[in-house]
Amino acid sequence: MATAHANIQALTAARFETPAKFTQFCENGGQPLGGYIGGQSVPGSMNATFETVDPGSLEVLARVSEMAESEVDRAVAAAQAAFAGNGVNGWRDFPVDERCELVMKLVELADRDRDVLLACEIRDGGKVSELAEGDVDQIRACAEYFCDVAKRIPLGDGPSQEVADGVRGFTYREPWGVVAGIIPWNYPIVLTSWFMFPALLSGNCIIIKPAEDTPLSALYLAKLAEEAGFPPGVINVLPGRGELTGQAIAEHPGIRYISFTGSPGVGQHILRTCDRHGTRMKREMGGNGSAIVLDDADPQVVARMIGRHANQHFGQTCCTIHRVFVDKKIADDFIDAERDFFENLKIGYQAEEGTQLGAVINPTQMSRILRAQADAIARGGEPLVAGGPAEVQGRKGFYLKPALYRTNPGVHCNPQEVFHTFATICPVSSAEEALELANSTPYGLGASVWTKDVDRGIALAKKFRDGTCQVNCHNSIAYGLPYGGQGISGGPGAGVNCEETFRDYTQVKAVYVSEYPEA
Ligand code: NDP
Repeated sequence: MATAHANIQALTAARFETPAKFTQFCENGGQPLGGYIGGQSVPGSMNATFETVDPGSLEVLARVSEMAESEVDRAVAAAQAAFAGNGVNGWRDFPVDERCELVMKLVELADRDRDVLLACEIRDGGKVSELAEGDVDQIRACAEYFCDVAKRIPLGDGPSQEVADGVRGFTYREPWGVVAGIIPWNYPIVLTSWFMFPALLSGNCIIIKPAEDTPLSALYLAKLAEEAGFPPGVINVLPGRGELTGQAIAEHPGIRYISFTGSPGVGQHILRTCDRHGTRMKREMGGNGSAIVLDDADPQVVARMIGRHANQHFGQTCCTIHRVFVDKKIADDFIDAERDFFENLKIGYQAEEGTQLGAVINPTQMSRILRAQADAIARGGEPLVAGGPAEVQGRKGFYLKPALYRTNPGVHCNPQEVFHTFATICPVSSAEEALELANSTPYGLGASVWTKDVDRGIALAKKFRDGTCQVNCHNSIAYGLPYGGQGISGGPGAGVNCEETFRDYTQVKAVYVSEYPEA
């Protein structure tokens, strides 16, 4: 039995050799990588560049041109032209089968260059291979799901109904036109796929704004899209800082719809900007995920499972577990087992065999996390695993130790999303008390219940306010089921990865038709 527990491990790195094709792409013949607009690589009118680095070694991977307001204008114009074509052969007029064919060609090229895309996630994004492999798989899974949806959900005229004598009405569903996806750094390939496939397959032309910390995968996908034969202007990529490139996207009235994934503060800011000129916006934002452990759970097994989920991408996963509420009857054993799991995470370079906790993405994140660790103690959290900076021999990088605290009901030492392997454990007297505490947060993204009594677990899980509620699992996603947040974690609508997501990328009009009035 002891061996069975030990088999539940944190996601772990295999050794990763950087492929020459990735290095060649990054070097770009000695020139900075440009943005991708209207089928061309564009250096950017400001002549400004930024560096993207490997967070675990601080090696500069590539120099990238920053896109300014005039490039946003240019990308919107290119996308509008590609959408409309010359009136008959725009992207909006492509039959669904042809859109699917191009998307699947892109997927095949992504499969061919899987090692390059893995390098983007592992080297640029700082991920361990076990997670990165699963992320790259999402390109195909997401594309196949939305090709199927696109074939099932018709655009154009809906059924007609009589609305008055001699008057009929029907709906008309069409793509928005130009839509933009603003993407965070933690899951660049997954979140770019989740945006681009439903947006493209419903007939929109797109602008992708990757995060400044992880621009490489979106730029590489644009290169593959060109090779696949997408018409120029259908896919555009604008790398740059949020406050410059992202802000110019949010302010552009030619963009009809924005899909934003990132932090609640930035999402709320963009929403206010979009509202000024009527651009619709969908937000998928951060969480402060919770787990409830009931008294019948095996504390050893569940502590390891929760540890695995709390450490997914080193706690830099939006719905990961940061707050645990455990029944008092098993709390001591659970806490011992969780402390053991956290203390034994192998801290190291993300491309080296055996690493389970790599560097965080940038120095700003590092200082935010250290502040949150100090704050947790100042607010009454009892440190079980102390956190603080970590050393990794032979590597410069943004390395931190995990942090675990014991709390009590009424101790508010973990109020905000801390994007690291950072969790509090609060012993509780009942499932009802645990639920009340789990729900007493403005976030509402992901939560789980852990129990041998699955029916009891389901009944409790349904009472979470979160968009994703799980029993004996966490961080699950599946195409066909919505992934979205409540409270400050997201909205409006169901979330991503379901049929409603596809419809979000379209607008519906009501068309009324009356007989021509006789004089
Ligand atoms: P941010 O909110 O800081 O950034 C997200 C994106 O917005 C980046 O591309 C950023 O650019 C851009 N941005 C920043 N400021 C502006 C602005 N004024 N106008 C337009 N765009 C702007 O989030 P992080 O990148 O730090 O990502 C982590 C967050 O994302 C966490 O809160 C996490 O929980 C959440 N997240 C939510 C998911 C979900 O599905 N609910 C999934 C994954 C992450 P740049 O980075 O270049 O400055």
